[in-house]
Amino acid sequence: MTVLDSFRLDGRVALVTGGNRGIGLAIAGGLASAGAAVAVLSRSEPPAPPGSAAPPALPAPAASRTQIGNLGFAEWIRGDLADLDPEAVVERVVTSLGRIDILVNNAGIIRRADAVDTTDQDWADVIGVDLDAVFRLCRAAGRVMLAQGRGSIINVASMLSFQGGIRVPAYAAAKHGVVGLTKALANEWAGGGVNVNAIAPGYIATDNTAALRADPRRDAAIVDRIPAGRWGGPEDLAGTAVFLASDAARYVHGAVIPVDGGWLAR
Ligand code: NDP
Repeated sequence: MTVLDSFRLDGRVALVTGGNRGIGLAIAGGLASAGAAVAVLSRSEPPAPPGSAAPPALPAPAASRTQIGNLGFAEWIRGDLADLDPEAVVERVVTSLGRIDILVNNAGIIRRADAVDTTDQDWADVIGVDLDAVFRLCRAAGRVMLAQGRGSIINVASMLSFQGGIRVPAYAAAKHGVVGLTKALANEWAGGGVNVNAIAPGYIATDNTAALRADPRRDAAIVDRIPAGRWGGPEDLAGTAVFLASDAARYVHGAVIPVDGGWLAR
């Protein structure tokens, strides 16, 4: 077996939250292309296969096998992380695809407002999806992974796991929490064969950052500060996710890997 073989994910089953677009779609595609069977969870439907005019027919409203772009077949779980039973989601993946080896907690929301104008609802919504749901899915998947003595959990953090950001107090609090949670779980679960790590994306061109890119002043300020001189693309995250999900990362626990064009080094 060569070192490259240790990056393969053949026979593994992954769940990627928010895998229908943006960073999650790129990560789901990366895992699938490395050999994993990938289930994605989101509120709205994944994209139709290229070349098809309409979305694929869904055999049931709550569940279907569909094609994620050109990335191969996967299971789509329609679900709202603000209101889901994490045990049922994990059970659903195990029932549909036979097991669960990889969990990517990618889905996230952001609300931009000055702290004094941030409502209790905005705070609760962001913490609920970006932190509470991450813990609850980790706990549910962790139980299964610890019982099988193997698993990889990848939480998607942010530059705002390290910095306060501008007008996003709940998001910064949640993303700092994601890093603390990642390290806490790594300490508990490394000895049980479960790797818990995080990826901290820099500034990536997705729906999440559309408002920043639409503001010429913010856009220029951000690009000027990135040593790589450009926004990242969702596809820039896929390789790191495959690495962390694979045996190549078997001794990597509690790490937070920035994929940021050098933003944190600046
Ligand atoms: P997008 O806004 O493009 O995508 C967000 C994803 O999360 C969608 O798939 C969305 O699916 C899903 N989602 C949101 N709310 C829920 C919910 N309540 N239940 C289920 N799924 C939900 O964001 P990005 O791809 O940019 O972000 C992905 C992750 O990366 C997030 O955690 C984000 O904080 C993080 N990140 C992004 C950065 C960037 O620059 N873009 C930088 C740093 C971190 P649907 O709407 O269909 O439910």
